[in-house]
This record gives sequence, structure tokens and C-alpha cells, in this order.
Amino acid sequence: MTAELYVLSRPTFTEDFRDFLLKEECDWIETASAKPAERLIEFAGRVCYMAFGSRQFRTSNAAYIQNLIAQGHESVLEHANWSFLLSGVTRAFTHQLVRHRPGFAYSQLSQQYHDESEARFVPPRGIERSRAAAAAWKDAVEACRRAYRTIIAESDSLALDGTLPKREAARALRSTARSVLPNATETIIVVTANARAIRHFLTVRGAIAGDEEMRVVSRLVYDMIAVDAPSLIGDFQARTRADGSPEVVRISAAGAPAP
Ligand SMILES: Cc1cc2nc3c(=O)[nH]c(=O)nc-3n(C[C@H](O)[C@H](O)[C@H](O)COP(=O)(O)OP(=O)(O)OC[C@H]3O[C@@H](n4cnc5c(N)ncnc54)[C@H](O)[C@@H]3O)c2cc1C
Repeated sequence: MTAELYVLSRPTFTEDFRDFLLKEECDWIETASAKPAERLIEFAGRVCYMAFGSRQFRTSNAAYIQNLIAQGHESVLEHANWSFLLSGVTRAFTHQLVRHRPGFAYSQLSQQYHDESEARFVPPRGIERSRAAAAAWKDAVEACRRAYRTIIAESDSLALDGTLPKREAARALRSTARSVLPNATETIIVVTANARAIRHFLTVRGAIAGDEEMRVVSRLVYDMIAVDAPSLIGDFQARTRADGSPEVVRISAAGAPAP
């Protein structure tokens, strides 16, 4: 089972800005190849100084966005938002992911409302290199699943309070049962994030050598932005490590990893 990313929504940029520019008697010299997210950010940035037409100093969209980033004017990047679903990831991973707060929103599969009797477990990559480790891992997750099912089957004995509404009784039972589920339990999560938050995430998470799952997801996120708004991550590089796994590295203007 591998992590997968499904793009649910990406930035759009409508034509309404033309009415505004007409009213203001401005003309925007646009970069024809710029994508909606990139146009939205450039437009928002230019509004700050009404830097359109003859007042355009930087004429290329990429140069404009690079300058916003270089100047630390990154709040403008917050106008571009993506929503995506991650599947095939572990609860351990999402516990780390949701530590990222401003600019992120999350909706995750509930272990209280969703029965996990058929839960899947994501094996850590490379565990098969040790037969003993792989067997121990498999035994452990199967034991967890058995324990979960046993607890669910004991609902009558475990019912502490017969007055609980059915829905709350189910929640209480699953809360008890989920306590035996391991970090490897597969989960699904919908994430919405803006470009600034994504850049921060990739900076601190994209190249952690000892955290492959984080690097794999970072690469999926990078690929999404690389398609939709390459100028927003022009200072990042997607690389392949010696073991074949991915990483996303933020690079300095000189091409070296940024400090
Ligand atoms: C290698 C690594 C190891 C880690 N190990 C641990 C660990 O052992 N234990 C643990 O608990 N966590 C650990 N973390 C998680 C880490 O402490 C952060 O919680 C997580 O990376 C989110 O970082 P952040 O707060 O910068 O990001 P975000 O929440 O995405 O915030 C982005 C930025 O917004 C600003 N910001 C956000 N909130 C505030 C605020 N309340 N006040 C002021 N400024 C704010 C900051 O500039 C912040 O960098 C680890 C992270 C990494 C990358």
C-alpha cells in the first residue's frame, strides 16, 4: 500500500478582474503562460501598489512571484489554496501532519464513528529486508486487529451506561476498541492548504532522512504544485535518494540546500 494524493480543488482565477481594471483605467501586462494560481497571486500583489501597465517593474509572472518570496511578502501567497485527499498513509504520519496549523484545514476519517474491524495497516518500507522484523510486524498488527474485533464483540458486557443513545454507545465502544490500534493503521484525510503553508511544510518536512513516509507525501504535494503553479516552488527541487526514495529539498539561489 502506498500513499496517494487526489487533488480535490485547485486555485481558479475568474475574469472579473478585467471589470475592475477597466474601471480603474489600468492595463495589466500579463504573462501568457502563467497558471491561475500564479495569476491570482500576481494580481493580488500588484493591487497593493496598483502596479499595473506602465507601473509594472517586473513584467514576468515568475519574476514577480520570486520577488515576493525574496522580500518575505509571503502573505500574498495565502490567496492560493489547494484541497487534496491523502490515502494509504498511517495514523503516525497524520499525527505529525496535523501539527501544521496556520493555513491548513483537515478532515480525517474518524475512529469513533467508523468501525475499524477491517482496518488496513501500512507496512514501513524496507521492513521485508528482515524476515524476523517483518514477521514480528505482521503478528503485531494482526493481534491488534483481533483485539479490536474482540472488544467490539463484547459490546453488551462493556455497555457501562444503558441510557446512552445508540450513537453515543457506538462511539464509546469504538473509543475503547481503537485504543489497541497501532500507528501503522491506514487512514484517509482531506487537507486544504495555502501556498505559503505548503512552502513551509516542504521546507521543514521534505527532506527528513529518517522519515520516508513524510518525504513520500512531500513529493506528492510538490508534484501537485509543480503542475499547477511551478513559480511557487521554483526554489525547491524534487530529488531521488540513493535508496530510490524521494525527497524535496529547498535550495538557495546558489543551488545548494537552503540553510
Ligand atoms: C524534524 C522534526 C522533528 C520534530 N520532532 C517533534 C517532537 O519530537 N515532538 C513534538 O511535539 N513535535 C515535533 N516536531 C513538530 C514541530 O515541533 C512542529 O510542531 C511542527 O513541525 C509544525 O511546525 P510549525 O509550528 O513551524 O508549523 P506551522 O504550524 O505550520 O506554522 C507555520 C509557522 O507559523 C508560525 N506560527 C504558527 N503558530 C504560531 C504561534 N502560535 N505563534 C507564533 N507563530 C506561530 C511559525 O513561524 C511557524 O513556523 C518535529 C518537527 C520536525 C520537522
